[in-house]
Amino acid sequence: MIFILKSTGIKVAIEDHHIKKMRNLIKTAGINETGGIILGSYTDSATATVSEIMDPPEDSRAGRYWFERGIKGLKSILTAAWNKNQYYLGEWHYHPNGTVEPSYQDYQQMSKISKSEKYYCPEPIMIIIAGNFQDYKLGVYISDRNLNKTFKLEQFTKDAK
Ligand SMILES: [Zn+2]
Repeated sequence: MIFILKSTGIKVAIEDHHIKKMRNLIKTAGINETGGIILGSYTDSATATVSEIMDPPEDSRAGRYWFERGIKGLKSILTAAWNKNQYYLGEWHYHPNGTVEPSYQDYQQMSKISKSEKYYCPEPIMIIIAGNFQDYKLGVYISDRNLNKTFKLEQFTKDAK
């Protein structure tokens, strides 16, 4: 699936097996939120291609309406990824039986990450998977450090101009 932000032309490419991976992880999470980081790279200046949807780090904490992504093991994951020219692209998380709209906390988290010197990611991507493992929707967002804003991408179809 490809998502696009029409105002800038930025695209996010997610393969079906990545969506399947999220689906499996939300099945395991059941009634609680879950999530993790997204790895990938910019295949051209305007296309962020997801290469990996990561499991929640061991020290993540979650409830029905909240998720705190942990940090355990992230450093070595990011170093190993770096050696394969894959980088931190952003975050994904699950809204059980909810909508793909980001919560206030979600916006805050993305703004914080965009400004953080730890992530080297001034335009982090956020994927929200909402619903349940049998019937789900995806919301894809990108945050801009300079504008201090988060934008929602639309699904991109090849025949749409
Ligand atoms: Zn959320």
